[in-house]
This record gives sequence, C-alpha cells and structure tokens, in this order.
Amino acid sequence: MDNVECIVVGAGAVGLACAAAIARSGREVLVLESEDAIGTHTSSRNSEVIHAGIYYRPGSLKAELCRRGKEQLYAYARDRGIAFRNTGKLIVACARDQVARLEEIRDNATASGVGDLKFLTQKEAKNIEAAISCHAALLSPSTGIVDSHALMLALEGDLEAHGGMVVLQTPVSACSVEDEGIIVETGGSDAMHVRTRYLVNCAGLRAPAVARGIRGLDQAFVPRAYYAIGHYYRLSGRSPCEHLIYPVPEPGGLGIHLTVDLGGQAKFGPDVRWIDGVDYSFDDSRFETFLAAIRTYLPDIDADRIAPDYTGIRPKIVGPGEAAADFRIDGPKDHGTPGVVNLFGIESPGLTASLAIGDYVADLLS
Ligand SMILES: Cc1cc2nc3c(=O)[nH]c(=O)nc-3n(C[C@H](O)[C@H](O)[C@H](O)COP(=O)(O)OP(=O)(O)OC[C@H]3O[C@@H](n4cnc5c(N)ncnc54)[C@H](O)[C@@H]3O)c2cc1C
Repeated sequence: MDNVECIVVGAGAVGLACAAAIARSGREVLVLESEDAIGTHTSSRNSEVIHAGIYYRPGSLKAELCRRGKEQLYAYARDRGIAFRNTGKLIVACARDQVARLEEIRDNATASGVGDLKFLTQKEAKNIEAAISCHAALLSPSTGIVDSHALMLALEGDLEAHGGMVVLQTPVSACSVEDEGIIVETGGSDAMHVRTRYLVNCAGLRAPAVARGIRGLDQAFVPRAYYAIGHYYRLSGRSPCEHLIYPVPEPGGLGIHLTVDLGGQAKFGPDVRWIDGVDYSFDDSRFETFLAAIRTYLPDIDADRIAPDYTGIRPKIVGPGEAAADFRIDGPKDHGTPGVVNLFGIESPGLTASLAIGDYVADLLS
C-alpha cells in the first residue's frame, strides 16, 4: 500500500488552498478529487466576490478568516497575475426602515476590524451610481472581484511547485483510522488504498458524507448537510453600475445583489431556496419575484435584458429558520481522532477566506 503524509479530499478553492499551504510547510500532499477537473462545484458556481468581512459575528472564524483572507487574496492575485478588480460595493437601504440596519451593519463590521465603511446619503450614493434608487447606502471600499478559476490554477501550480499533486477522477469512498495511520479507500477506475498520517476533508457539499465514511471518527462530530440553492440571472449589455450593489441581507444569504464580472457584465443573484440534494437545475419559475427584488434598487431595469445564467448550492450545516452557522474546521482537539481535519459549512465567504483557511489548516497539522 502507498504511503502519503497528507491527503486532502476535494480540489475546490478551499481544498487547493489547504493543500498548497500544507505543501509550503514542507509536507508531502496528495489531493484526491472525484470529478475530472478541479473546481467544478461551489468554487465555480459563486459570485466571485472578494468580501470585505462585514456581516459575520465579530470573533467568528468567518469574520477573522474573511478579513485576513481578503488581504492575502489581493496580494496573491497581484503577485500571481490573477485577474481581479477592487470594485467597491454599496449596500443600499431601499426602504426608510432599513437605514437603521445599515448602521448595525457598519457597527458589526467595525467590531470585526473592518473600519473603512462609509455611510452615504441618498444624494452621495446617486452621485457615484446614478442608476440606483435608495434612501441611504454604505460604501465598502475594500470589496472586489476575482477570477476564481485563475485562483485555483495558481493554487494548483503552487502545490505542484512544492512537490504535491492533484489526482482527478478519484472519489474517496471510505476511510479507516488505525494505529499505523489512516487508510483511505477510493473508487473510480483505479480503485486504491492509500495510508496517510493526515486527512483533510474539503469535500464541500459532500464533506459531511465523507466524514460519515470515516471509521474511527465519533459521528457525533458530523453535522447534517443542508443545501440552499441560489439562482443567477445575467444582464445583457454593459452593467449599469461600476460598484457591486447589495440590498440589506436576508435570512440564509446576502439578498439578490448585482455583481459585475471582470468583463464588465452584470449578473443578479443568488436567491435562497432550500433543496433536498445536489441538483444544479435552473428553475426559472420565480423570475417575477427576482425582478421585483432587483427593481427595489434598480427601478428602471429592462426585464428583456435579463436571462437565466447558472446556479450554485450553499453547503449549509444548519437548516431553514436556524441562526447562520460559523465555518466549522474540526481538528483532533475538537473530535479526538488523530490526524483528521474536517471542514464543514464552508459557504460564503469561503472563496475570499480560502488562503487564510489554508494557513489555519496547515497550522492545525503542525
Ligand atoms: C451561490 C454561492 C455564491 C457564493 N459567492 C461567494 C462570493 O462571492 N465570495 C466568496 O468568498 N464566497 C462565495 N461563496 C462561497 C464559496 O464559493 C465557497 O465557500 C468555496 O467555493 C468552497 O470551496 P470548497 O473547496 O470548500 O468546495 P467545492 O468548490 O465544492 O469543492 C469541493 C470538491 O470536493 C470534491 N469532492 C466531493 N466529494 C468528494 C469525494 N468523496 N472524493 C473526492 N472529492 C470529492 C468535489 O468534486 C469538489 O471539487 C459562494 C457560494 C455559493 C453557493
């Protein structure tokens, strides 16, 4: 049986960032990925926004790793020639009673170490984005966008430069924690058994399923998986805004926002719908609700310019109506099983936080 010092399950942005950080720390790393390419799930089905770290509970992993990850991501993108733009973002109060929410959001951001938000009056907001309608807004200057695929390719390159590699079409089917290491079983055409000292589970939507397949891990430490799909619509022609435009957040997500891509095109989304399994089908039946949400801040938008684009699914670990969960990065100190690290609930801002999550996980192994 082959021996590898560390196996990372899943080659999304977070798995690749963890693997690259672990390889940089001098360990031997293999990434096992079930699909035939890297980043085909959540890491390529998101808004590609570099989040500032505004909304999360101060002191939580989401708040800390987002704030740190944002700085690291801007620096990494600059250094590696990954396309990005520091667009800035407006959070808009579309009803008078939402203005107080903006103040709460700003206070929360300040408590999380993000002190650069600027309160804008209606006139100031209109001065920088003429197309929008609002009572007031918050400007987040440090928000931006990034090419998530270029990020993942750079991380894979980093991993390889430090002696690691990604093995595609290799789904991890079961693992067993034994005295002499963790035995990882894979399916696919070349089914194999590999022994490892460290197993880092970055399987995203499937992370709870992979953890349930680890014999020797106390199953009390494996959360139930919940899925919340979000739909995106694209806008033909040029974007009416340069900044990203967000309404005040809604339960389960950040509200149907406008993001701009690196080519200057706008898209709207994602909404939040709870589903039972991983199915990316686009359900266009709620277009009118979607349009109404967009028109709260872009009243003159032409419905004929909006068309279905794609969906993404949030890897949730709490269900509808429950308070938002923090990222869960469970190491041996949490669950008592040596060598195993499970990452659960790595929804937004996981892309922004990926480099900081990588460092955090590499530290857990040292
Ligand atoms: C709608 C939406 C919008 C978002 N917008 C943003 C945003 O704008 N900014 C931001 O910072 N974050 C955003 N996020 C969050 C971000 O996309 C995720 O946190 C991040 O991509 C998660 O990466 P990951 O590597 O954990 O998961 P994934 O990208 O899902 O990767 C998991 C990988 O594991 C593989 N895998 C699964 N099971 C197995 C197995 N048994 N064996 C081997 N491999 C396996 C999968 O094939 C997959 O490649 C958004 C998320 C969603 C859903």
